[in-house]
Amino acid sequence: MALQFSEFGMDRRLEKALDHLGYTTPTEIQQEAIPIAMTGRDLIASSKTGSGKTLAYLLPLMQRLLRVKALSRRDARAVVLTPTRELAKQVYAQLRLLLSVSQGRGLLLCGGENFNDQIKLLRRQPQVIVATPGRLADHLLQRNLYLEGLELLVFDEADRMLDMGFAAQLRMIDTAANHRKRQTLMFSATLDNLPVNELVNELLREPERIAVGEGF
Ligand code: ADP
Ligand code: MG
Repeated sequence: MALQFSEFGMDRRLEKALDHLGYTTPTEIQQEAIPIAMTGRDLIASSKTGSGKTLAYLLPLMQRLLRVKALSRRDARAVVLTPTRELAKQVYAQLRLLLSVSQGRGLLLCGGENFNDQIKLLRRQPQVIVATPGRLADHLLQRNLYLEGLELLVFDEADRMLDMGFAAQLRMIDTAANHRKRQTLMFSATLDNLPVNELVNELLREPERIAVGEGF
């Protein structure tokens, strides 16, 4: 029998937010990924497009924000990396809906937007940043933000980010955010991919592996 969202033991505010959105039953990837991610373990997961991967990581992210004491007041608590601006915007829109139940501050940080405006927004100390890797790396190099206190790093569509040539930026972000208590969640269309596996071996600690759907 499939678990309902109400059985994950999430903060009531999140359950209410899901109610408002009309979501009651988690998708398969959400069923599998959310309980693992909520324990704080690292995770590498794959499932097909449209299967609900965004909430599979945003709900554990929000649970941490609402229920775990922050390591740092200055630094962002969670960063979500996506390959493209369009994806980052979609993820950010879902994040905003969830953040509206708390006092949490989010920031969208994409290429193509005004750099100095982003510096001003970074000074407001967002707790969650949704970013494309190139632009986040640029801000890190200029020391416009610090990630020493980062608790959760999410790689959405890691395979595509590697295909697009972001390997160096991903490693640089990992190094800047290498707190020993950091949790890393990685999502990829396939796990059967050498560059993705290299990244998993370098960046994740004893990850759980989940593959949902056809072809695995
Ligand atoms: P993926 O990242 O795997 O391609 P998304 O996270 O973008 O998939 O989700 C695809 C669509 O499914 C979105 O419109 C999302 O709002 C919807 N969705 C996600 N989870 C659920 C759920 N548990 N119940 C109903 N719809 C959902
Ligand atoms: Mg997705």
